[in-house]
Amino acid sequence: MTSYVCTSCHARHKVAATRWRCDCGAPLDLDFEAAAIDRDALRRRPQSLWRWSEALPLDPALSRGGLGAGVTPLIDDVLGETPVHLSLEYVSPTGSYKDRGASLLVALAISLGATEVVDDSSGNAGIALAAHAARSGLKARVFVPGDCSPVKPRIAKALGAEVVEVEGGRASAAEAAANEAKTGAFYASHVFNPFFLHGTKTLAYAVAESLRWVAPGAILVPAGNGGLVLGLDLGFRELRRHDLIDRRPSLIAVQAERCAPIFRAFEAGEDSPSPVTDEDTIADGVRIGAPPRGAAVLKAVRDSGGLVTAVSDREIETARRILWSKGYTVETTGAVAAAAVLRDGKKLRETFGDLVVVLSGSGLKA
Ligand SMILES: [Zn+2]
Repeated sequence: MTSYVCTSCHARHKVAATRWRCDCGAPLDLDFEAAAIDRDALRRRPQSLWRWSEALPLDPALSRGGLGAGVTPLIDDVLGETPVHLSLEYVSPTGSYKDRGASLLVALAISLGATEVVDDSSGNAGIALAAHAARSGLKARVFVPGDCSPVKPRIAKALGAEVVEVEGGRASAAEAAANEAKTGAFYASHVFNPFFLHGTKTLAYAVAESLRWVAPGAILVPAGNGGLVLGLDLGFRELRRHDLIDRRPSLIAVQAERCAPIFRAFEAGEDSPSPVTDEDTIADGVRIGAPPRGAAVLKAVRDSGGLVTAVSDREIETARRILWSKGYTVETTGAVAAAAVLRDGKKLRETFGDLVVVLSGSGLKA
């Protein structure tokens, strides 16, 4: 089995159900070398992320059939006057890209013999985990901050998860989930566990396959914790290493101006973001004041020749309305990357060429 490697002190740890971060407190990476996928065999593979099995650190049999996460449409359209490929990640089993990560986390739980998964999430991650756990016959428990909107936790509950309200904010909910890990439960953290990123990396494979293995110039994604940025970085590196694409696309991380620690650090030329107080943005899915993997996100963006930008709530709301008027049923956070193209599309296209814009989450859940 592959092992965990600390993102900060580089200590190695065995992959175990109770191990969710390093003893030094930092998130973990996975020491895993993806093999080259067999492009000719793809025609015979399932329409899910398990089709790229050579690139995955777990046996597809562990998915117990899964829910079909991982294969989403890529649609050609125009935003403002900018031609784009829209990656419809909201068209996934529970309406967000988090299904990719949840698929891997639940398969990992099964491989470790866990019967219950826990996470802290007031949003799409909790819903995705609940659904994938239900499909695989595992119990799910989701800790939510008492002050969050009840809509998404209600959906997680309807999917069979036990939803536990914790007094205080996000930090208290995270602490409650971490305490469960001490009692032997599997903390399927969508922020700390690197298997989640090996799930989100399959978006790179999906995009490359949709574009017939011609890489785009850049790919724009909403960024809070940066799970999409880091997954795409992993995936495109692997594809490039095995010569399956001829260049690595630039990664463009888009934050909400009202909560933009990664953007601020990028602009200031710093290596890691300084925490900001969670300001209230309408894009609540990217409202992360202190992203634990912030330094890695900055490095991934810079290494790819990309950039971090930020959009205002007004720009996000306008983008959401424009997307709906064209038939794309995104949630507010799902419109963040499109907002950047609506504002800067001409320049972005001149700089990077062909653009992929990720529409990350569904608005039908609101
Ligand atoms: Zn460490």
